[in-house]
Amino acid sequence: MLAKLNIIKEQALAELNHIKTVQELVSFKVKYLGKKGEITAVLRGMGSLSAEERPQVGQVANEVRAAIETLIEKRSKVLREEEREAALKEEAIDITLPGQKILMGRKHPITLVIDRFKEIFLGMGYSIAEGPEIELDYYNFEALNLPPDHPARDMQDSFYITSEILLRTHTSPVQARTMEKMVPQYPIKIICPGKVYRRDDDATHSPMFHQVEGLVIDENLSMADLKGTLLTFARQMFGADKEIRLRPSYFPFTEPSAEVDISCMMCGGKGCRVCSHTGWLEILGSGMVHPRVLEMSGYDPEKVNGFAFGMGVERVAMLKYGIDDLRLLFDNDQRFLAQF
Ligand SMILES: [Zn+2]
Repeated sequence: MLAKLNIIKEQALAELNHIKTVQELVSFKVKYLGKKGEITAVLRGMGSLSAEERPQVGQVANEVRAAIETLIEKRSKVLREEEREAALKEEAIDITLPGQKILMGRKHPITLVIDRFKEIFLGMGYSIAEGPEIELDYYNFEALNLPPDHPARDMQDSFYITSEILLRTHTSPVQARTMEKMVPQYPIKIICPGKVYRRDDDATHSPMFHQVEGLVIDENLSMADLKGTLLTFARQMFGADKEIRLRPSYFPFTEPSAEVDISCMMCGGKGCRVCSHTGWLEILGSGMVHPRVLEMSGYDPEKVNGFAFGMGVERVAMLKYGIDDLRLLFDNDQRFLAQF
């Protein structure tokens, strides 16, 4: 039996060296010192020993038990320390790691230009009017002095939904709707920014683009008021050194009508490739509201008159930022958009 105890001790020592976790140590303790453990088994067998042998074996058994307990204690301390360190290591926050970069979006150049339009015209006392993009033929053409057989309708090949409903080809129907809503009140001072649709798709045309139109209705307005307004706009949008010039033109909804040019921002008016060596760049169409249009909306052309103007936002953005290809505005290439 003494031999057996020695074997148990040796075995326990050997096994202890392989124990890696506190959990394993608990099982080890049960195996050797537990109620059904190996040492308890030896002590149970002591009944078969002689009276001289019994205390001797008992003593050794206690010594072995004590030795194993001490070893378990030691090992336990080491293991707990190791586990604590491992846990700390795992939980540690590496403050030298770079943080996660939050990617911020930014405004598209079209949005930036529309925002600028709003700022400029709100500053001149205008308000902003909006209307549907899916529009009645009536508001898109007829109320603007473009009856069904009018040849000017050919200039705007449209996306029709039914013969009466289409995607608006300009923001002018918002003008007609506003007048209809306001009549007989005046003055009206609005700008209408928004998307418009035409059946064009090539290097310089997109089937969807943006316009901003303006409308003023009041008494005794003249071309001078129109020109002053547009000059103020041009200088605030493109720079204080800009000039504008008006050229006679034709639009069904204005009379007289004028195309408006701005002095070239590339060459300062000296003439360059961009302005075809004229020193001028065409930016918008304008004119005095046609008496027929006033009448259609219920206003008396003898009492009030008005002026209106409209331009493409893409064109303004391209001139303002020096963008040479319209399609860049719709490609949504991050490398391009990040420049604004
Ligand atoms: Zn030029």
